[in-house]
Amino acid sequence: MRHPPARRPHHPAHDSPPPEQDLAPPSGRPAPSSFRPLPPDGSARLPGWRGDQWGRVSAPIVLAVSALVIGMIAALGAGDRQPAPAVHAAAPPPPAKYVVLTFDDGPDPRYTPRILDILDQYEAKATFFAVGTEVARHPALTRSLHDRGHSVQNHTWSHPDLRRLSAAAFDRQIRSTDEQIHAHTGTTPRCLRPPYGAQNPVVVQRAAGLGKQLVLWDVDSRDWDRPGTAAIVRRVVTGARHGSVVLFHDGGGNRAQTVAALPTILKTLKAKGFGFRATRCEGPS
Ligand SMILES: [Zn+2]
Repeated sequence: MRHPPARRPHHPAHDSPPPEQDLAPPSGRPAPSSFRPLPPDGSARLPGWRGDQWGRVSAPIVLAVSALVIGMIAALGAGDRQPAPAVHAAAPPPPAKYVVLTFDDGPDPRYTPRILDILDQYEAKATFFAVGTEVARHPALTRSLHDRGHSVQNHTWSHPDLRRLSAAAFDRQIRSTDEQIHAHTGTTPRCLRPPYGAQNPVVVQRAAGLGKQLVLWDVDSRDWDRPGTAAIVRRVVTGARHGSVVLFHDGGGNRAQTVAALPTILKTLKAKGFGFRATRCEGPS
């Protein structure tokens, strides 16, 4: 059950959208937003690419590469009979299957450091949609998010419903948060998560005008509702698909259940072959 309005904390801690919002298709797996994480090797498919085209182009490529490799081996063999150096000793490539873990409303010194330690244990990178007021309050913690390989992105200065702001107020919410994050991480967010997932065409347009891409989610842990650790684990583990963006909270309220649920979630998803990737949202300083 969603909290009735009167019971909500003064800080609007959760991001579950009001029912009237048009955030996702009613059935099937909703698209979290137009954003998709980039593959680590930059191998995004070109528009118009079809999987069945592999059959037509791959055979000549394989033949050509094979001929080249055979030629190189022959050339090496002719001049030097020493065994080739081992070139495959590096770490294995990251899993091709992945989810994007996101944490909103922090950083919070009560929970964020514990979440960072759990993420490290599972070699997971995540994205933290930080609130500007909390970034200003916890600069060292913000820096540690960045230094430990995670992505710090914009979740506004004071968590308003962006649909209700003037253009000037919208700009202030985003720019002041950008400045704080840049001051402590040296990076400028390119992604914006609107509080409550509340968006409309004006919000999208204003965000784009500030160079921001909106990032929502398709798996909501509903940890803000404190449903119990088992319920949080179940929602995420059953909901996660390749490329899913999962919503958690590391600030804005009591997040003990989030912290308690994370190890089981990461262990289970890792056993299913998932890796954990941050968004690719940072711009140049
Ligand atoms: Zn939020």
